[in-house]
Amino acid sequence: MENPVSTSTTTEDAPAPLRTTHPPEERLGTLSFHLDGAICRVNCEYCYLGARPGPRGGARSLDAALMEELIKTLPYKEVAVSLSEPAEMWAHGLKAVIRAARNRDKPVAVTTTLAVARNHIGMLSEATRVNLSVDPAKGPVNVRVIAALSKDLNLPSREVSLIVTLSSPTFCDQLASGMLQQFLELPTVDAVALNGIKPPPPWLDKAYWLQFLSRIQPLVDRYLDRRLFSDCYVHARILGLGPCPGRPDISPGAEFRSCVYQKMPDFEFQAPEELAAKVADYLPPAVCPFKIV
Ligand code: SF4
Repeated sequence: MENPVSTSTTTEDAPAPLRTTHPPEERLGTLSFHLDGAICRVNCEYCYLGARPGPRGGARSLDAALMEELIKTLPYKEVAVSLSEPAEMWAHGLKAVIRAARNRDKPVAVTTTLAVARNHIGMLSEATRVNLSVDPAKGPVNVRVIAALSKDLNLPSREVSLIVTLSSPTFCDQLASGMLQQFLELPTVDAVALNGIKPPPPWLDKAYWLQFLSRIQPLVDRYLDRRLFSDCYVHARILGLGPCPGRPDISPGAEFRSCVYQKMPDFEFQAPEELAAKVADYLPPAVCPFKIV
């Protein structure tokens, strides 16, 4: 007998691609807050924030009370907040975000540079995860320095992960030639995320990602989705390992973006209820806000 399954399985029978894995009460997935419009002293040439036009009203920061209200009421899984340089400017806003998330018993991850984490460790005290942004644009990449800093940051109540940006073929070569393995073997680093520049430059195309992942195959086999994480668009759109994780963003203005990496906001809003109504049936984007070649 012919295998009924094989004959009847045609594309139109295939289930619609999964758009989200989040239950309604976590519908927004990882809700990101950018405290500043685009004011970062580091000024990485490929920064997706730097590519934004900046809020129409010229707002330079997000109102702390607004953020607290959103964190108290919106349906999300975890909060992510970026802390750029000079960090002192954002102490008040950061405290408000972390306090509101912790009061609701929600994880809160703070992404920042090695310099900020080293010089302002107190500002990170209540975070549940510290994401250290690592690539040559942010200063020399030294495994021993990262080992020492992660040792100071890692606590039973706080994870440390490295966001490693594939910022150039030369740096990718260093990563694939042993540096990535060194990062993964650091006992005080809980996870390493491979971050692609967005929008991807011509050299960082699908073929390059697949070639890079095959160069680190032993690490992929051992750690993928446990301690090693590929970029969201690589995981979802290139490897097809699941839907977009949903990373909506709230930035000064106040601006809402369905995907934190999109240049223009979907809309602006003033009051928490206005946003809550507009995202009541939020689904992660079906496509990324940039071309994947
Ligand atoms: S739309 Fe693409 S880039 Fe944005 S969060 Fe989803 S997978 Fe990532």
